[in-house]
Amino acid sequence: MSVYKAEYIWIDGKEPTHTLRSKTKVVPLGEEPPVWGYDGSSTNQAEGRESDLVLQPIAVYPDPVRGGDSKLVMCEVLHTDLTPHRSNHRAPLREVAEKYKSHEPWFGIEQEYTFFEGISPLGWPDHGFPAPQGGYYCGVGADEVYGREIVEAHLDACIDAGLSISGINAEVMPAQWEFQIGPLGPIDASDQLWVARWLLYRIAEDFGVSATLDPKPVKGDWNGAGCHTNFSTKSMRESYDDFDKAIKALEKNHDLHIKNYGDGIDRRLTGLHETASWKEFSAGVSNRGASIRIPWQCARDKKGYIEDRRPNANMDPYIVTRLITDTVCSAL
Ligand code: ADP
Ligand code: MN
Ligand code: MN
Ligand code: MN
Repeated sequence: MSVYKAEYIWIDGKEPTHTLRSKTKVVPLGEEPPVWGYDGSSTNQAEGRESDLVLQPIAVYPDPVRGGDSKLVMCEVLHTDLTPHRSNHRAPLREVAEKYKSHEPWFGIEQEYTFFEGISPLGWPDHGFPAPQGGYYCGVGADEVYGREIVEAHLDACIDAGLSISGINAEVMPAQWEFQIGPLGPIDASDQLWVARWLLYRIAEDFGVSATLDPKPVKGDWNGAGCHTNFSTKSMRESYDDFDKAIKALEKNHDLHIKNYGDGIDRRLTGLHETASWKEFSAGVSNRGASIRIPWQCARDKKGYIEDRRPNANMDPYIVTRLITDTVCSAL
């Protein structure tokens, strides 16, 4: 074939939480995916009388869904004068990443999500509820896990797209799962997380299943869905000296971070279900009821990384990695 299919992926202006969009361009083989455009008035990003927005390709991956020469093309959204659109949160991250690049910040992001079939979580009974939580986390067997074939297909797709996916696991609530991206620098981690989310929706689509990043998809005694964000700088990977400074800086900026860690964070960070209340900052070794957890191996080795457990599943990694980089690196 003398052409290939390029799936252009971008983030819309939907409120309160932006979502993914994509469309296909047929490109001559041997050519890079060019700058393209779309109708911003259909994505809550522009008025009808001035609707054109620009898709600027920023990362290209092999497309594991279509295979062959097909590509996934992650984009930034710009105005026609090539300035970033207000919904483009990658642009401000670029500046912060550049400013603090000497600290070599790394991020490993744990994306939790929930499968739905119609209006119920996948595999849940039509009436009532499944057995209470307890056996589902990292469970095995048809009575414990729902949707593994989709999760396996997604993992393969991420690997085939060349993403730095580091693992998957079944979560505490049945039909809830997690994958991890990283560790990578803030821009790569964020780009790859968005592409991995797109692949999740796209692959689940073929199974007639939807995946949601709702931070509390089922009310009551069921775990919410988070996006734990593990973070280190070069100095933290070498010694314990900066751990305290990093945690103090995060404490000082707790309110700013909470406000930007995903819509509905108060529904999830209740203080129950392995969360710390959004109202109060806390930190501790091995503590899954704290805002910031120091993994036990890092406390033992006196180096490594910290886990920010506050971000919601529906957070924007461009915003979260920018805030953490800025807050911590400006204090070191
Ligand atoms: P949990 O025990 O919280 O479920 P996971 O194994 O799901 O932990 O996720 C841990 C994450 O930490 C992984 O995504 C991994 O890539 C990331 N990670 C490991 N080392 C570092 C580091 N030095 N800096 C940032 N992230 C890291
Ligand atoms: Mn995890
Ligand atoms: Mn988890
Ligand atoms: Mn975690």
